[in-house]
Amino acid sequence: MECEICGKEVPENNPIRAKIEGTVMVVCKECSKLGKIQKAPPKPKFVKQNKTKKSQNKKNNRKNYSRDDEPSEELVEDFNNIVRNARESKDWSREDLGKKINERVSVITRIETGKMTPDIKLTKKLEKALNIKLLEKIDKIDLNQFINNNSGERTLGNVVKIKRK
Ligand SMILES: [Zn+2]
Repeated sequence: MECEICGKEVPENNPIRAKIEGTVMVVCKECSKLGKIQKAPPKPKFVKQNKTKKSQNKKNNRKNYSRDDEPSEELVEDFNNIVRNARESKDWSREDLGKKINERVSVITRIETGKMTPDIKLTKKLEKALNIKLLEKIDKIDLNQFINNNSGERTLGNVVKIKRK
């Protein structure tokens, strides 16, 4: 949420509404001095669930990740193409692949056409049989970048400081 006058960040859970030149606007603390502050009716439950969802989610995510040391693995997006290409490069038919990993041809077909997402067990079997990587680790570096890019909290802190002045 941004101040409608100067564009500065305004805390989403506690925006200041001020009547300036007859119009009620969401403004920062400083700009609110230009007009008459409108007291918004308190609705903490609603605000908590919706307005602050963004920053709360970020906090929760971070907590979960630091607590959970297990590397997160995700199926790559184009797993179906990777499976098909690897199989074809080995000159295997779908039947051949099915026999090797003990699955029905229909399963292979559905995976290769992207109609079915293999579960972790089947994914590992495919990886082994075809010598491919279908799982990608969610990199911790990416996560850190995400946290560093999240200036939301810092901004919130600045605003709180200004308010206390
Ligand atoms: Zn402002």
